[in-house]
Amino acid sequence: MKHSGILVVNAGSSSLKVKLFPSRDAVLVERIGGESRLASSFGATSERPVARHDEALHLVLEVLEERLPEGGIAAVGHRVVHGGMRFSAPVVIDDPVVRIVEELATLAPLHNPANLEGIRAARALLPDVKHVAVFDTAFHATMPPRAFLFGLPIEQYRAHRIRRYGFHGPSHDFVTRRAAEVLGRPRSELKLVSLHLGNGASAAAVDGGRSVDTSMGFTPLDGLLMGTRSGALDPGVLLHLLRGGMSVDELDAMLNRESGLLGLSGVSNDMRDVRAAAERGHEDARAALEVFAYRIAKTVGAYAAAMGGLDGIVFTGGIGENDARIRSESLRSLEFLGARLDEVRNAEHAKRISSDTSSVAVLVVPTDEERMIARATAELAGLALEGVGALQEETA
Ligand code: ADP
Repeated sequence: MKHSGILVVNAGSSSLKVKLFPSRDAVLVERIGGESRLASSFGATSERPVARHDEALHLVLEVLEERLPEGGIAAVGHRVVHGGMRFSAPVVIDDPVVRIVEELATLAPLHNPANLEGIRAARALLPDVKHVAVFDTAFHATMPPRAFLFGLPIEQYRAHRIRRYGFHGPSHDFVTRRAAEVLGRPRSELKLVSLHLGNGASAAAVDGGRSVDTSMGFTPLDGLLMGTRSGALDPGVLLHLLRGGMSVDELDAMLNRESGLLGLSGVSNDMRDVRAAAERGHEDARAALEVFAYRIAKTVGAYAAAMGGLDGIVFTGGIGENDARIRSESLRSLEFLGARLDEVRNAEHAKRISSDTSSVAVLVVPTDEERMIARATAELAGLALEGVGALQEETA
């Protein structure tokens, strides 16, 4: 049998990230429509200008051509940010699915239209293979109403679908499966909190393998402090600012791009820079780190209450995987729950960083969202793919 590959496509508003499985060759095109640049994990680069996503994908396929497995590309998996209430699992993309994703753009105006550009480009260039959409929101479709309803008039939910959806689903799903493997127990028996801490940051309460609450909400703005996003905020602040004359666009820019670690510290959205400034004695940087860790601690505490117990805490994302100090600062106040770190293991970024006496296991698990997307795609396309594996393997 000829081996074939799966392409995972993550299309942003001006970028296109593509990863080929099982080789994991990665290609990134940035600044589509501007001074575009292509970079790859295998050294190929290009500065050929590309105006649109279809041109970018065309260029990516050219660059990947020599590296494709003998059987070519057998399926394409697409990351789609918002699946609304319609999609609670990955789906094979056909015209009706495209129309629904288009409609859902009202819920995710920054993300879904860009994801659709990627889908259209890939379906046009690779018309003979299956395309699969994997939604950021889908893993959280198991949340009960008490977790997803906001305290607004119920019509806002019924007629306008305003509720908590949650994001980073493939990542929370992946790292909690892995955590169960590391602990040698089925995920169905575990109460886990996963903390995806990157530029975007979110927590999820995963009880028996099902997401029962998560910190991001209707949009990815809610919850933890992030690189440039505010996280949770009294909605009265927004009214106050709007009444004070701030425009909706200014408010949007402030909440999404000028807040978070960057806004509070005034230094940077990058944790490493904020940490370095705090160490030099920069007071605002120090406060930003404290807010960052405090919100994690109080969310873990809340989720232990939501699940009525806690077996494990999983750190992932650029910060969660690499910043031992944040891990220890955010867990310091959680000893009463039985979560105790072993500081040596923590400093070494070991797989299991809790002490032997800790009743709550604390783990560091590198996330792999693309692999989750590749697996779901292989499964829906009916492919047995080496290096991607079947989804059931790690399903508890
Ligand atoms: P994204 O959400 O864009 O995928 P990442 O998961 O790559 O982001 O996380 C980016 C964050 O991870 C940045 O704040 C960066 O400072 C932080 N980070 C990366 N490496 C380290 C490190 N060694 N120590 C502390 N923070 C790190």
